[in-house]
Parts: sequence; structure tokens; C-alpha cells
Amino acid sequence: MFGDVEKSGSKRRTVIISDLTQVGVIRDLLERHHFTFSKALGQNFLINPSVCPRIAREGGAKGRCVLEIGTGIGVLTAELARLAKKVIAVEIDERLFPVLEETLGEFSNIRLIPGDILKISLSDILNKEAPGEKVAVCANLPYYITSPILMHLLESRLPISSITVMLQKEAAMRLCAKPGSREAGAISLACRYYAKPQRLFEVSRGSFYPAPKVDSVVIRLDVLDQPAVSVSDEQALFGLIRAAFSQRRKMLATPLSTYWGCSKEDCRNRLREVGISPSARAEELTLEEFACLSETGQRKQMF
Ligand code: SAM
Repeated sequence: MFGDVEKSGSKRRTVIISDLTQVGVIRDLLERHHFTFSKALGQNFLINPSVCPRIAREGGAKGRCVLEIGTGIGVLTAELARLAKKVIAVEIDERLFPVLEETLGEFSNIRLIPGDILKISLSDILNKEAPGEKVAVCANLPYYITSPILMHLLESRLPISSITVMLQKEAAMRLCAKPGSREAGAISLACRYYAKPQRLFEVSRGSFYPAPKVDSVVIRLDVLDQPAVSVSDEQALFGLIRAAFSQRRKMLATPLSTYWGCSKEDCRNRLREVGISPSARAEELTLEEFACLSETGQRKQMF
């Protein structure tokens, strides 16, 4: 989209990208375009000048094709474009496009794709825009759909090497939690099935305009070539994990008896069979133990 916009000599007003972290400049820009923030779309734009370059660097943008989700006014997009071979940027809010023409007009390596990241065909887009390449995903995610976006990216088995994203602190802690720890949830295990997560750095609420009510954390997920454990039925594994965490403070036999439709005593026996204590709770199990338990469940269903 920005491949053939006018550059020098253009009468169009241009904003200097480094100014995009100044609230006065942003207000003026948005006022000229009659743009008002949408809370529903999670529009909190980054204004801390050190954060975007760091996401671009630590997200591995250098020399690669990068997929960005949610451009806002383009402050992160510009940093990515400085390092990357190409930036494929998906934005749902078309009211931002005239703003982006102004802020990103100088870059010829940005391809802006209008649409909802959960609805567009990402595999067609990546085939067309980055054929034969693994892309790095970098984004300051809209908080209202963080988990659906991450699970969508991981489950769809797209050619993605890593996912570096800013999330609400709590969601980030949960995603990166070690299985067997108190913070672990169904999403931590699902995430570790596909990727190796690491927490990169914290970003305070004052780094955004408008400021959200919570602090944020940037995490990086290095996508594994093969899932971390091997199971005959992935959906059964995720169903089991979700069921176990649906009553995370109860001993496993309680949620699993409902899920498997058998007595608690049968559940306890199945747990013993795979070497798991019958008094264990979901948050105490590793991904390998869930995989083992899921396979036992599969075998029991076959007979
Ligand atoms: N990257 C910018 C920044 O860091 O300042 C904006 C980040 S803002 C937290 C999230 C952006 O995602 C907004 O521009 C919003 O319009 C966009 N967005 C929200 N839901 C989306 C969706 N389903 N698909 C694509 N973009 C979405």
C-alpha cells in the first residue's frame, strides 16, 4: 500500500516518526484526521520512545519479513520497517489508514492489509507476501483478544519463527508460567505445546496514550519445529487440560470424572496407572504428564 506513495516534494503533510511518541503531536495528528480512540478495539498507542526499537530488535525483525498485528498510528510499524526486509501489517480500523499514509509514507517496504486478524486468511497473505519464508510476528496486541490471537497463530501452523508481543502483565505471567507452578493455567500448557516462551521486559502503563489501567510485559515465543510432546489426538489433550483447569483448586479426580464420564475412583486409578498422585491438582502437572494421561484416556475409549 505504501510502495508508491509520493516521497520528497510531496505536498502531503508528513509527521516525523520520532515525534509520534509525543502526546501533543499525536493529538494534533488525530484531530486533523477526526480520529477518536476506540476502547473496544484496544487502542492504547505506545508513546515510550525506547519500547518500539526494543521490540523490533528483540523480536528478530532485522532482515526478515515481519507480520505486525494492529498498527495504530504506525509507531511500531516504522521501527519494524527500519530493520525488516518487509512488514506485513494487519489493521482492522480503516479510519487509521489516512493517518498511516501520513506517518508511514516514507517507507516502501510496508504492506498494509485491512482486516480482522482472526478472520482474514493469513496463510494466503503470507504465501503471497512472504513466499517460502518464516515470518517473525511483532505486535502490541489489542488486549481484548490476546489469547484468541496467540492461539490462532500457534494452532494454524503458519510459517512463523517467533511471536514477540506486548500483553497485559497478568496474561504474560500466565503464558510464561512454568507448568507445575501456581501461575500455570490451560493457556500456559497450550503455549508450551507449540513454543518456548520467555519474558523479555516490563512496560509501565504510562508508556501508552491513552494510559491503560494495568502494566504490560513483552514476551517472545520461539515456535518449535515439532510440538513439545507427541500425542495421537491434540484436541483430546487440550480438552483434558481445559477440563482439569476448570476446577484448578480441586483434586484432578473431580473435574476429570465429569470430563471422562466415569467415577472418581476410576479416575484415581487412571492417574495411578501413569504415575500421577491421585491427590494432584491441575496446576501441579507437567505437559508430559497431561500427554501421558490423555493417551491413557484415548486407550480406554478404544476398548
Ligand atoms: N501498534 C500500535 C502501537 O503500539 O501504538 C497500536 C497498538 S493498539 C494496543 C492495538 C491495535 O490493534 C489498534 O490499532 C487496533 O485498531 C488494532 N486491532 C484491534 N483489533 C484488531 C483485530 N481483530 N485485527 C487487527 N487489528 C486489530
